[in-house]
Amino acid sequence: MSTAPRSSSANPPRKKPGAAKGRGRNRGLTPAEVAEVFRRFQAADPEPKGELEHSNPYTLLVAVVLSAQATDAGVNKATRALFQKADTPEKMVALGEDVVREHIRTIGLFRAKAKNVILLSERLIREFASEVPQDRDALETLPGVGRKTANVVMNVAFGAPTMAVDTHVLRVSNRIGLSDGKTPLKVEEDLLAKIPQEYGVFAHHWLILHGRYVCKARKPECPRCLIRDLCRYPDKTPG
Ligand code: SF4
Repeated sequence: MSTAPRSSSANPPRKKPGAAKGRGRNRGLTPAEVAEVFRRFQAADPEPKGELEHSNPYTLLVAVVLSAQATDAGVNKATRALFQKADTPEKMVALGEDVVREHIRTIGLFRAKAKNVILLSERLIREFASEVPQDRDALETLPGVGRKTANVVMNVAFGAPTMAVDTHVLRVSNRIGLSDGKTPLKVEEDLLAKIPQEYGVFAHHWLILHGRYVCKARKPECPRCLIRDLCRYPDKTPG
């Protein structure tokens, strides 16, 4: 009877797309290399912008809440008409949950999100004089707002050097060698510690956009990548 372990080399465990193969661990970048990565991102795109459409901190907050498990394009399609009718907490509450739900029904989890949009709007009116708070603790008390949403709002609306880590940022940070963290929080901590302050405000935009359009999950476009020579990913797309 065979006593071979189940994960023998004849039947290796499946790796997720993007995971490093067994050619040595992904060594992290040196501080000088990290600075060079962001110098190049900045040179290529000096003022990157997020892709969620909004007209003020409140509509940004709502758009980010709606964007959980949805694409920015899908959210923008739904919010264009919604924000024309309601771009303040008062107007949103006056619109009511049923109308909000109808506007966003093409977005995943729309029922729970419509409820949260109304609840957070009521709370803003009641406890924050209808203003979006600028600090993390206050933001995270709002219904539907977690750490990542708070980071995006603090960064985009108020210019704080926060790192919102989504699936793109996590993957790209692992591949490049900016972080070997496997959770958003660990990657966030690594990025905050390693990225020079001067790049702090735009860093998460550069990483998201890089992940969305170049360093894609299944087949990264390494031949046209501007940091290819610095990147530690062992399975770069040849060409
Ligand atoms: S070289 Fe390839 S894996 Fe590395 S950052 Fe660029 S696109 Fe991603």
